[in-house]
Amino acid sequence: MTLGTLFIISAPSGAGKTTLVAELLSRLNNIQVSVSHTTRPSRSGETSGVDYHFVSHQQFETMVEQQQFVEHAKVHNNYYGTSEQWVKSTLNKGIDVILEIDWQGAEQVREKFPGSKSIFILPPTKQTLFERLKGRGQDSDTVIQQRIAAAKEEMSHCNEADYLVINDQFELACSQLQSIVEAKRLEINSQRQEKLLIDLLS
Ligand code: 5GP
Repeated sequence: MTLGTLFIISAPSGAGKTTLVAELLSRLNNIQVSVSHTTRPSRSGETSGVDYHFVSHQQFETMVEQQQFVEHAKVHNNYYGTSEQWVKSTLNKGIDVILEIDWQGAEQVREKFPGSKSIFILPPTKQTLFERLKGRGQDSDTVIQQRIAAAKEEMSHCNEADYLVINDQFELACSQLQSIVEAKRLEINSQRQEKLLIDLLS
């Protein structure tokens, strides 16, 4: 059995990453998303163990000391990390893994897993991004300005990825993401066709 591939997906918030990843998962078999650990408080509608593993600062620090993370980073004043044990055991089962992480985490993962593929998702225009970051108009100007600054910081790292997808038309962006995963699965080294070859060449 071949190992699964690690796909890193990064984007500024407001690019539509979560919706795209959910659609991608519904279209493909044999692929799972890693559930990160975070010190951020859960938002309404989020479930522990599904959206994130919500942990205290103390628990997070212990996990860092015990080297339980493939990568970890401070993003918007909270800590986030990816479980090394879960990622490795899933890849070892031949299942592809998606990490939805920021550029700092992506950098660490690329070093540890040189075979990983990283994808960056950008919004089509500044206007679209700003509209999405403004949300429902319930946040203060300061909060919105902070979100815009964080999005710009994230986007400034897009050239470090292997692939770039612009989320203009949802359907197109989704099929582009799907193509990236499928092209990787079609690589010679991702396939084990010994039996077929023995038969064809006999
Ligand atoms: P949110 O708190 O809004 O769900 O996510 C905020 C940011 O944290 C997003 O950019 C997301 O990609 C990033 N993030 C989520 N999980 C992880 C993780 O495990 N590691 C890193 N480095 N970033 C993460």
